[in-house]
Amino acid sequence: MLWPVTTERDGGGGLRVGGVAARELAERFGTPVYVFDEATLRSRARAAVDAFACAYPRSRVRYAGKALLSMPIVHILHEERLGLDVVSGGELYAGLRAGIPAGEITFHGNNKSEQELREAIAAGIGQIAVDNHFELTSLAHLTAELSTTVPVLLRLNPGVDVHTHDKIKTGVIDSKFGFPIWSGDAASAVARTVAIPGLDLVGYHAHLGSQLFDAETMRVAVEIMVEFAARMRDRHGVTPRELSPGGGFGIAYTEGEPEAMFDEWANAVGSALTEACERCRLPLPELVVEPGRSIVGPAAIALYRVGAIKDIPGVRRYVAVDGGMADNIRPSLYGARYTAAIANRAERGPRQHVTIAGKFCESGDILIDEVDLPTLVSGDLLAVPAAGAYCLAMASNYNHALRPAVVLVKDGGARLIRRRETYDDLIATEVNL
Ligand code: PLP
Repeated sequence: MLWPVTTERDGGGGLRVGGVAARELAERFGTPVYVFDEATLRSRARAAVDAFACAYPRSRVRYAGKALLSMPIVHILHEERLGLDVVSGGELYAGLRAGIPAGEITFHGNNKSEQELREAIAAGIGQIAVDNHFELTSLAHLTAELSTTVPVLLRLNPGVDVHTHDKIKTGVIDSKFGFPIWSGDAASAVARTVAIPGLDLVGYHAHLGSQLFDAETMRVAVEIMVEFAARMRDRHGVTPRELSPGGGFGIAYTEGEPEAMFDEWANAVGSALTEACERCRLPLPELVVEPGRSIVGPAAIALYRVGAIKDIPGVRRYVAVDGGMADNIRPSLYGARYTAAIANRAERGPRQHVTIAGKFCESGDILIDEVDLPTLVSGDLLAVPAAGAYCLAMASNYNHALRPAVVLVKDGGARLIRRRETYDDLIATEVNL
């Protein structure tokens, strides 16, 4: 699924999402604007919850807020029974302010500060996913000082290679995340954890990477994790109550690309967990998955206005839009591919190969390297699908760009859920002028 489920063309050929015309959205809220379709958000969340519940009844889904931590969106996802995974004090703060109960939040990250750990403990966090020995030491001190017990998961590095971009692999041997199993580090982390009175070892976590399409990799990771858990049961008498192979389910960004289907992954992971636990004679733990991209990614389009058009004879035609790497750095950061469609009118006439450029002062600020579109003119609106994940979440103020507005559409209505930044926002944190 590339476009939000409610995407359609109106009588005049213009694009509509959630029953609202793209033209109207651009006029009311300006461009660039990110438009989230509530029906798609809810249906993606439901599909994930139902698929895992069907394949493995004791399962839970936590939304990985790093994909986009918008409070109204997180709230909607919680209504659809998703918990939350956060990776910073800031995400934790926003999640709590969005009304997510602390007990349904997991705190990840490979270098949590003492302050962040204190905030998580004070909030009554569901679990802290401990990444390293430094963190174990901090938690030992903090729980002793606060005379409290904290539920923890240990993040394991299972050493499973996956087919995705190097920058979004996390469970391979050379990774900054987690305790490697093969080196003995994970085993020593378990030994330390069970010896710290303030830590309650709830279970094990791993995350292999993002934009994954082969469910077999997660199946293998689950087997490795269960075998490790069984060895730790034999050595220390601890059995995991929870096991989480993370998130990473891939989505389509361009026409014809595959997507990871929740039910296929749920069946693969659910059966791997059941079989491995039977083989190792471990009681079945709760299965927790943490999708981010696959929940919010396909739920949004980004709308841009076309400005300057430049022909380099014999080379290419550049079509510049009013956004780019400041609101979506993925193409410049790791060569992510997108597609686009004309949103203000019907897509008629001869098609052209063009390069969609951003407006920022980097030659690498290319939103779409090559795309086939009917001839564009200045003033056209371009819609980019699959724009819900890791775009706004990684947005910056480069060139003092204003971060775009975010709008939620549903049943013909549009609700502004994040206003466009203003020039005053840009200078609001400058002091001692
Ligand atoms: N869980 C953890 C620990 C992660 O690091 C990530 C992404 O990096 C996710 C879940 C979500 O991944 P995705 O958005 O690809 O589903």
